[in-house]
Amino acid sequence: MIAILGGGESGVGAALLAKKKGLVPFVSDFGKIKDKYKKVIEQNEIEWEEGKHSAERILEADEVIKSPGIADEVPLIQQLLSKGTSVISEIEFAFRYCQAKIIGITGSNGKTTTTLLLHHVLLRCGVNAGVAGNVGKSFAEQVATEDFDWYVLELSSFQLDGIKEFRADIAILLNITPDHLDRYNDSFELYADAKMRIAMNANPTDKFIYSEDDESIRLAMQRTKTEAELIPFSIKKQLPKGAYIDHEQLIVKLITNDQFIMSIHHLALQGKHNLYNTMASGIAGRVLDLRKELIRESLSDFQNVEHRLETVGTIHGIEFINDSKATNINSTWYALESVNKDLVWIVGGVDKGNDYDQLLILVKDKVKAIICLGTDNSKIIEAFRDHIQIIEEAHSAVEAVKKAYEIGQSGDAVLLSPACASFDLFENYEDRGHQFKQAVKSL
Ligand code: ADP
Repeated sequence: MIAILGGGESGVGAALLAKKKGLVPFVSDFGKIKDKYKKVIEQNEIEWEEGKHSAERILEADEVIKSPGIADEVPLIQQLLSKGTSVISEIEFAFRYCQAKIIGITGSNGKTTTTLLLHHVLLRCGVNAGVAGNVGKSFAEQVATEDFDWYVLELSSFQLDGIKEFRADIAILLNITPDHLDRYNDSFELYADAKMRIAMNANPTDKFIYSEDDESIRLAMQRTKTEAELIPFSIKKQLPKGAYIDHEQLIVKLITNDQFIMSIHHLALQGKHNLYNTMASGIAGRVLDLRKELIRESLSDFQNVEHRLETVGTIHGIEFINDSKATNINSTWYALESVNKDLVWIVGGVDKGNDYDQLLILVKDKVKAIICLGTDNSKIIEAFRDHIQIIEEAHSAVEAVKKAYEIGQSGDAVLLSPACASFDLFENYEDRGHQFKQAVKSL
């Protein structure tokens, strides 16, 4: 019997795949399982429970597939580990049965954007490619039901914690900045090492695409060696091999005398952070030897993902931008950096240990007013009150948008880039983004 802890997208996908492979899955969720998943479980005659984990039964399992949301410190997981039971992630489980080649993408920020961008590039170039990870249907379910040649997989550090044999033909590491440290004994090194697991099983013919500009990646690479061929990208310097920017041209060079060149003004995704995402995708496209012309077209006609620096509209000359997905300091840093207008900045929510000083230079340069959108805004007010004259508080998206609209003038932008999680006032970041967009539309 395979016990599957967590009855969400990945757990149910794993159960379906297990069933298809003749194993006996048992899905156990400590909370409530959503109706749509219950339906699938029952239709497939899979055993399940909710509201508890029946320890006796789970401890009998031959193997356990654990949702990435469950920490290793949970007593049941500790018991399983000390008993010697193999505890893996859905990604590891699906990998065992996956015939397709894999591009794995990880990093602290930009995973979803890069995953969807690269998937778009592959499709536009005629590759039979699927996309999985945190987007859409689970990897396991697709392995059970689809027949792709390639997968583009978004991988979080938690998913990577649960791998053993998983190997990506192409691994991409975008950046490493502090996030989720509570799950890593507050150790940035442990968190960085978890990200490096994406390339730990690589063969010499596999590729490891990474940011040369990221000091934390370079340090992590010194601690953990990978056998993969290294292909860096940088916006700070020219590289003999990899991707870089030269005179506003994006260049990808994998072998001598062969270059991919494209003006950065033609890129669909603007902003410095997106240059990184685009360079990583461009390298992967060239590794697959896709046609340059088609890569160029697809990098310029990609539609940006919702809630990531998404322009909602312009009202009386004030542009409203939804960056609700910015839930940490680093992603907000890039948002502030990339918008070249005077800003009314909507920030706040549940702070995961933010150091707002890192934003101070940009805030002093660009922000004319701050609207705090959180239950407890004291840290933000404290950090900026000596520098920004107008700091107001709001307790709903409607109130925040109204206040911002009153303060803004033609030519300004109102930027929702919270640097915080959302669950004090909203269900999740999508809900926060939708409420913001709705409020803008009702102005
Ligand atoms: P993830 O899936 O890693 O959370 P997303 O693509 O959903 O990343 O983007 C999350 C936030 O980070 C958004 O606010 C986005 O604008 C910002 N962002 C995107 N790419 C990068 C990057 N390479 N570096 C820093 N921030 C980024």
